[in-house]
Amino acid sequence: MKILKTQTLYGPNFWSINHPHLIVIQLDVEDLSDRLSNQIPDFYNQLVKTLPGLIEHHGSRGYRGGFLQQMQEGISIAQVIQHVALELQILAQMPVSFGRTRPSATPEIYRVAFEYKNPRAGRYAARAALRLCQSLIDQSYYPQVELEIDLEDLQEIQVEDALGPTTEAIVNQAQKRGIPWQELPVRHVVQLGYGKYQRRIQAAQTDQTHILGIEFAGDKQATKILLREACLPTPLGEVIYYFDELEDAIDRVGGFPIVIKPLDGNHGRGITLNINSWEDAENAYDLAKEESKAGGILVERFYRGQDYRVLVINGKVEAVAERVPAHVIGDGRSTIEELVEDINRHPHRGNGHENILTRIEIDGHTDDVLAQQGYVLDSILEEDEICYLKATANLSTGGIAIDRTDEIHPETVWMAERAAKIVGLDIAGIDITCTDISRPLKEVDGVIIEVNAAPGLRMHLQPSQGKPRDVTSPILEMLYPPGSAYRIPIIAITGTNGKTTTTRLIAHIFKQTKKVIGYTTTDGTYIGEYLLDSGDNTGRQSAQIILNDPTVEVAVLETARGGILRSGLGFDRSDVGVVLNVAADHLGLEDINTLEEMAQVKSVVAEATDENGYAVLNADDPLVANMAKWVKGKVAYFSMNPENPIIQEHLRKGGIAAIYDGGFLTFCNGQDTIQVEQMVNVPSTLRGLVSFMISNVLAASLAAYVQGVSVENISTGLRTFQVSLDQTPGRMNLIELGKFHVLIDYAHNPAGYQAIGEFIRQWSEGERIGVIGGPGNRRDQDLKELGRLATQMFDWVIIKEDDDTRDRPRGEAARLIREGICQEKPQFKYEEILDETEAIQAALAEASEGSLVVIFPESVKRAISLLQ
Ligand code: ATP
Ligand code: ATP
Ligand code: MG
Ligand code: MG
Repeated sequence: MKILKTQTLYGPNFWSINHPHLIVIQLDVEDLSDRLSNQIPDFYNQLVKTLPGLIEHHGSRGYRGGFLQQMQEGISIAQVIQHVALELQILAQMPVSFGRTRPSATPEIYRVAFEYKNPRAGRYAARAALRLCQSLIDQSYYPQVELEIDLEDLQEIQVEDALGPTTEAIVNQAQKRGIPWQELPVRHVVQLGYGKYQRRIQAAQTDQTHILGIEFAGDKQATKILLREACLPTPLGEVIYYFDELEDAIDRVGGFPIVIKPLDGNHGRGITLNINSWEDAENAYDLAKEESKAGGILVERFYRGQDYRVLVINGKVEAVAERVPAHVIGDGRSTIEELVEDINRHPHRGNGHENILTRIEIDGHTDDVLAQQGYVLDSILEEDEICYLKATANLSTGGIAIDRTDEIHPETVWMAERAAKIVGLDIAGIDITCTDISRPLKEVDGVIIEVNAAPGLRMHLQPSQGKPRDVTSPILEMLYPPGSAYRIPIIAITGTNGKTTTTRLIAHIFKQTKKVIGYTTTDGTYIGEYLLDSGDNTGRQSAQIILNDPTVEVAVLETARGGILRSGLGFDRSDVGVVLNVAADHLGLEDINTLEEMAQVKSVVAEATDENGYAVLNADDPLVANMAKWVKGKVAYFSMNPENPIIQEHLRKGGIAAIYDGGFLTFCNGQDTIQVEQMVNVPSTLRGLVSFMISNVLAASLAAYVQGVSVENISTGLRTFQVSLDQTPGRMNLIELGKFHVLIDYAHNPAGYQAIGEFIRQWSEGERIGVIGGPGNRRDQDLKELGRLATQMFDWVIIKEDDDTRDRPRGEAARLIREGICQEKPQFKYEEILDETEAIQAALAEASEGSLVVIFPESVKRAISLLQ
């Protein structure tokens, strides 16, 4: 077995709309193609032994044990790989369940798709699944150690890529609310929302957290001065820079016990509490000096009591936690060291911030803290005796948190809310030390020790004791107050032909609303009037460029088959999903072999429309109209034929449609109709002569209409949209060259030829001459079809080839087109000039008065410059 290709999907896709995160492998099972799972000796038993968790997989049966049952009855090895890849991820704490396997036209080759939580881990799981199964098949055995290494590697990948716990909690909440998010490639910043409505966070710091607030909070002395000026209780203390000043400073704070800490420290680093002797003060000074970046040392009176963290979000106290330093409780038998080991084994304890609590590390500091309490690591504690292992209560050094939100005194709530405003933070963690949080601070000698910017949320979300507090909702409601937008309208366009034209037309109509439009096409990515990047930009990455841009107010995205298959849609859902048509093109690529399969690919755009959005579907194309079945939101149809039964039925039910009726673009809303514009006034349809362009006009207008664009704006858009060499190069560019006319068009598949043919056949002033060709990566039959069609629309043709023959030998595509011509009309006049430039020159030289020379170029630019 081997993996021929691995694709990582990130958005709604061919396999699933609701499972955007999939790994798809193209798997060659080689000699296993003729053996099913039950025909490989001992495979079933060994697999169950290695991965007993497979019993939980339902397979297609829909019940526990279903997959194993299927295995016993006989399924392809590819399906087994799918389930093993899922199971490996599940065992590595990444719960996943969705998967699908498809055979291809070649019996040994399958496509296997399965869900991932982490894309790197997903790809790893594919390789590991293959290794595991191959080993079971070859040796009836997969070493336990190998499996353990696989799982460790998978977990390591997950931990490496994990967002911090605070960021993750916010992101999860965003997801719940349907707010899209993504990690920016720098500084672990997460972007929420799309386009103009995007916001950014970095842990509990937002794009509206003022830099001055952050700076004040980072300077403990500045914070204290600001708070003291506002009559808030702060620790009595002094800042010193030299050791000589220490003795006087201690005197001025009222003598021992004192606290010494770096002025600009955090996470409890360099801080010594409860100092009672000069000798300890000297050591503490040195310790603080080492940790202080700017050299300032804070000497404070030591306040007795517990350590509380008050979380203020957007001016309101949302949670209060008591933080207890890492400690153990005696059982009358175990040593302190044993008790610590025991605690660290708890499943909630992990390294750093990876879990709810952090493992306790025994270090020099722990020895000091133990010594202060009269213990060593080997001491055995009496039952229920508490022994602290750290001086400060940071979660990151093994502390725990107890929720006290319901106990805090109202006056202290008010003080904390003021303190956050005074320092200037939208999200602040106020540290308070006092003996009883339920009483006013002044009664219990309580003080605000400091104010933290970007406070950790872990202690409130998952306190070790007490009620968890949803502190992520207030953060999101601050960023997006109820009712405010977090996404811009997304209009996605797909189909076999006319995507670029329709995308441009929609963008042009929306421009009439004076909004900033971002759009992507096969020609490039644009914002407003400007080109950002030229090239075939119809995939996920280009969509992301538009959606991530803070200036964009409406996104119009050409969405091609290639991108959908390669990485899924570049957005989670759209507001309008337009499907123009499904015709024979690109068949045989990426295991999409039939028109129906191609329709399934394009249907992703229709199905990924939002519940409140519209799928805009072509009622004249049965494969497209049929997609309505799968649409979650509403459907709006367009049709060239007012009598189309689908339209009639749809309108009876009160639906919305756009039709071409008596020379007019007409919107129907149930039984109401609005005549929008006469087609002779729409230049892109060549005064109503080009019916496929009329169809594109209907689709584009309807997409704008269901988005609430006014009829006036739509009709202005239609009247001012030019098919010109500048605005839409390569799409029905009709150019007069004095004696004769030239039409340049990108048609490159049978449906495109047919569409153009309809217009060409109407040409009555002279000869109709074609300069024709087709992309080399299409099937033989499609190229022959181009030749056949050419005989029906032209008087004579020149056959040329693309420079890029796409792996076909030079001359082969032309030969196939020629064969098509000869089969259809053996007497038909043609010439073969493979070089495109020479072919065009020859056609122009031979064109007679009044004739129409139609060029289907590979490079429109080159063709245009030739004409000029
Ligand atoms: P963190 O980043 O965890 O907030 P930090 O390095 O910023 O820590 P402080 O917040 O100043 O340091 O102090 C850490 C803890 O030490 C406080 O939460 C408090 O429990 C205790 N502490 C600090 N100063 C005093 C003091 N003057 N009296 C009593 N306890 C104190
Ligand atoms: P691509 O797949 O190359 O990106 P596209 O779908 O973006 O193509 P356009 O570039 O808009 O299509 O148009 C290419 C050609 O397809 C046009 O020049 C015309 O010949 C033909 N065409 C456009 N619209 C339609 C339509 N609605 N039906 C059939 N053919 C069309
Ligand atoms: Mg602190
Ligand atoms: Mg295109």
